[in-house]
Amino acid sequence: MTENPRARETRPATAPAQGKVRATGTQVRPDSLSANGSQGAGAQTQVRPKTEGWTQQKDAEGRPLLQFASPKRGKPPVHLADLTPAERVEKVKELGLPGYRAKQLSTHYFTHYTSNPADMTDLPAGIRDDLVGGMLPSLLTEVRRLETDRGDTIKFLWRLHDGALVESVLMRYPGRITLCVSSQAGCGMNCPFCATGQAGLTRNMSTAEIIEQIVRANRLIAEGGLGGKKADDHSMERVSNIVFMGMGEPLANYKRVMDAVRVMVAAQPDGLGMSARGITVSTVGLVPAINKLADEGIPVTFALSLHAPDDHLRNELIPVNSRWKVDEALDAAYGYYAKTGRRVSIEYALIKDMNDHAWRADLLAEKLNARGRGWVHVNPIPLNPTPGSIWTSSDKDVQNEFVRRLNDAGIPTTLRDTRGKEIDGACGQLVATTEDEAAAAAIG
Ligand code: SAH
Repeated sequence: MTENPRARETRPATAPAQGKVRATGTQVRPDSLSANGSQGAGAQTQVRPKTEGWTQQKDAEGRPLLQFASPKRGKPPVHLADLTPAERVEKVKELGLPGYRAKQLSTHYFTHYTSNPADMTDLPAGIRDDLVGGMLPSLLTEVRRLETDRGDTIKFLWRLHDGALVESVLMRYPGRITLCVSSQAGCGMNCPFCATGQAGLTRNMSTAEIIEQIVRANRLIAEGGLGGKKADDHSMERVSNIVFMGMGEPLANYKRVMDAVRVMVAAQPDGLGMSARGITVSTVGLVPAINKLADEGIPVTFALSLHAPDDHLRNELIPVNSRWKVDEALDAAYGYYAKTGRRVSIEYALIKDMNDHAWRADLLAEKLNARGRGWVHVNPIPLNPTPGSIWTSSDKDVQNEFVRRLNDAGIPTTLRDTRGKEIDGACGQLVATTEDEAAAAAIG
């Protein structure tokens, strides 16, 4: 193997993070790691910090613990947003009411963001309760609302019908309002640096439970509850962008998530009338589901949570890498671009002394450029702290160097702004705490 000039690059070992992560010398790209990340003959152990206090959870056969199937729990009640427009008409008829009432109800829900019979003055008072009871059952009970950034970031804690807790985070940015939604209560992917992953999967969320997060956020915005609006701005505002970056692995709940996307993009009053381009589906890399997504014909933005360009490290950071390797995930991401023409995002949480080495930036750039130009951009994000975690975010100069190397290699790369850390509302921090459980119990 020819010597890679960068392979010998070193930087000083840094002090142990919180005294728990021990840096074991210089950070070098192991000679045994070829450009495609596979271990060559005579592989030597990769030199990087040892982690203490965390061991990957394994199943009975010694494979990393992954939960794909949703544990059986009582299903949430069927809601208008779970149904197609034709099914809504059928259901209204089953309630003994004329089919056209479905459209009226959809208008209340998707354009006025209300499920309150008292608001529905165009419907005869005598049928409102039956219609709402049958079509708009209550799905999310608000347990808590936390605000930061002077009120333009809000985290909601919701209780589902069976007591499961989920969160969504609403953020105002210049020119857009983004809602980070949950797609599962908990998550089965078990990524060690993510608080949600550590808690395991409670269950899949229904389509309507996903949609209701948006409707409730829109209601709050319409009531003027989201800070940061300019005094002279009288526009009717609502959520413009959705990121599936709350709790859960969206592609492990494929059907309900895609049905929810269809409701988001359907024209009002049948749906929320949102632009597919403003919807980002983020995944750990479930390859068959990525391929399926590429065939849907809905131009959502696709994001792959890569976090390491080599299998050796990614096997640890993203346990599902034991099934679908870095190159397979990247091929699928490239396939998404090739099919849809939509530039894909690579997410990369920068973890101090873990995945932030210069040679890893170079290897990532190599792998992305090997597949083509202009198809991808990289979004590194400094790791957000999670309870009891042994890891911390990379130092500023290391972050900047990582970004610089990718940009120099022709890969558009921007360090992502992270919001909501103060309220544990940032990426990877969403988890129901004992405090949340107590608050949920207290509201009865
Ligand atoms: N399961 C999906 C979506 C949820 S997480 C996925 O993994 O893509 C959304 C993003 O936050 C992912 O890129 C995830 O890797 C990242 N993330 C998780 N924990 C984080 C942390 N502690 N700091 C920064 N980003 C984190």
